[in-house]
Amino acid sequence: MPVQPLEPKRLYRHIAEQLRALMEAGEFTIGQRLPAERDLAVQMGVSRPSVREALIALEVEGWVEVRSGSGVYVQRNTPPIADAKAAYDEWGPLELIMARGLIEGEAAAMAAQQANQEQIDRIADALAQMKLALKEHKDPLVGDELFHRAIAQACGNEVLADTVSRYWLARRSPLYLRLADYFERPASWRAVMAEHSAVLNAIKNRKPNAAREAMQNHMSKALTRFSASWKLANPPAPGAVKVSVAPSKVSSTPTRRHHEKQIAKV
Ligand SMILES: [Zn+2]
Repeated sequence: MPVQPLEPKRLYRHIAEQLRALMEAGEFTIGQRLPAERDLAVQMGVSRPSVREALIALEVEGWVEVRSGSGVYVQRNTPPIADAKAAYDEWGPLELIMARGLIEGEAAAMAAQQANQEQIDRIADALAQMKLALKEHKDPLVGDELFHRAIAQACGNEVLADTVSRYWLARRSPLYLRLADYFERPASWRAVMAEHSAVLNAIKNRKPNAAREAMQNHMSKALTRFSASWKLANPPAPGAVKVSVAPSKVSSTPTRRHHEKQIAKV
């Protein structure tokens, strides 16, 4: 038999595929509610954020439906809500936010040290654009992206600026947008704006530590918002079917385990 190429997969992908196999095998039938996220995480030996990413991937691909206030239900033969192929190999959105906190925190600290006036004005303009969009009931995401990219550009390191641009490509991917759908409300955008103001003020006042802290706080709050809104949409399902699922075959790397622990904290 010829040697088969190995396909490295993201952890949430492994989880999604096991759940999909159970649906295909009829262990979960159409209309059934899936076990609660917590139970799946325990049975598979993975973190809840990874299960959450897997459930959203299955939703994007049309396999399950997340019913607000009720739970996650199996549905089949439904057209995917986004280009499933494009969504297949995405970074996990929750891991992405973690990475953004680390990298963009440093970029903000560097920007506080060396941004010129023009660059600071660009950051302030992006924030003003977000405020205006919210007032006019338009999507503040455009201004959000400009804000983060302006900071990365002001940090003076092209590699970091390019890295942050790459994060924004992922931020606009089907999986992330679906997750964001659960929490993007005017109230959460107002909180985002206040967090952005703290970052801007620290950069303006040339305070690198405060800028790093404010950016990390922004990303940590984003994780909390994601978790809170997901809980609303996906409460524990006491009457859910119990099906035995195998622990994930993926051996988590120490780094991944560490990240998951941090994600689970918020
Ligand atoms: Zn932001």
